[in-house]
Amino acid sequence: MAIAVIVAGGLGVRAGTSPADPPKQYRRIGADTVLARAVAPFLSNPRIAAVQVVIREGHDEVYAASVAPHARLLPPVNGGERRQDSVRAGLEAVATLEPEEVLVHDAARPFVGPALIDRVLQALEQHPGAIPVVPVADTVKRVSADGLVEATVERADLRAAQTPQGFRYDAIRAAHARAAVSGIDFTDDAAIAEWAGIDVACVPGDPANRKLTTWGDFDLAEAMVERLGTFEYRTGSGFDVHRFGDGDHVVLCSVRIPHSHGLLGHSDADVGLHALTDALLGAIADGDIGSHFPPSEPRWRGADSAQFLRHAAELVAGRGGAIVHADVTLMCETPKIGPHRDAMRARIAEILGIGIGRVAVKATTSEGLGFTGRREGIAAQATATVRLPESGQ
Ligand code: MG
Repeated sequence: MAIAVIVAGGLGVRAGTSPADPPKQYRRIGADTVLARAVAPFLSNPRIAAVQVVIREGHDEVYAASVAPHARLLPPVNGGERRQDSVRAGLEAVATLEPEEVLVHDAARPFVGPALIDRVLQALEQHPGAIPVVPVADTVKRVSADGLVEATVERADLRAAQTPQGFRYDAIRAAHARAAVSGIDFTDDAAIAEWAGIDVACVPGDPANRKLTTWGDFDLAEAMVERLGTFEYRTGSGFDVHRFGDGDHVVLCSVRIPHSHGLLGHSDADVGLHALTDALLGAIADGDIGSHFPPSEPRWRGADSAQFLRHAAELVAGRGGAIVHADVTLMCETPKIGPHRDAMRARIAEILGIGIGRVAVKATTSEGLGFTGRREGIAAQATATVRLPESGQ
């Protein structure tokens, strides 16, 4: 189980014009504050059980106005004077949850993406510490106190460290406790890990995951959000029916359910995934399941319909799109769907590579009416919403 600690304890004076300005983590970029943007991708990551934000004493009101409540967002705790004091406060606050891993992230990095978080979590499976790094693009000089170049530093093996920085929880908690009494100032958690002898692996960082520091950074951030805003949302629908025949199970939304009958079809007859595949294809206006996987082709006989859905998801990704939401309704008298609903949602989320919170599976009977009422077959309808770069077409 992993926990994220988001450090928002700074005053952020460098980005403000006067002490009356809100600290930079509470400033808005577009519709959301910097902090809300920094927190969101951790809340939506299924591998992160809870998010702990560390704030400066007296910031409770501006915090509450900045971040919406969420089931996995813990109440904020107060940090300390230095960044490392704030991180330590966050680490101590989550001790009772007994996390195995912790990701420490700077609130001033609002453009952290889901893929970067996953890279750090993945590296933590092999290493006690893992941080995202980016190559140093500028030539680096060592400069004397009177402003003269002393040396050009070889930059080939230099990397700039970003956050989130991930660690095995017990190790970094103990290291922070020792660091607190060492009298040494550390600029990031990887430095404390290094000092404590914890191996830290590097994963590719993301140039977009910048730390906002100056006014200029905020102007750039506004421009980035504006560019991100040039997306459009499209919704597609799908519908499918399969007839009952001989058999001892059905496959619905990629879950095998024992049943008195099977469903007839060329593939595995997964009526739920077929409807959803058509919904995704509909959202990108790219034919239908029959045009991509013709029933006349023998290779789709008995096929696992997960591959149809995966293909549709890849077509969406190929257009630079993202799947925002998937919603399936199964219509049948039997079998009962309710006991399998969450397994179906989990499978669809896994196939599409999205969070389970973006997947709905519902069921209804038709009150004994029509072909579903006569138990002759199962019908499914689905909608899918995708976000695509605006194309003007
Ligand atoms: Mg079908």
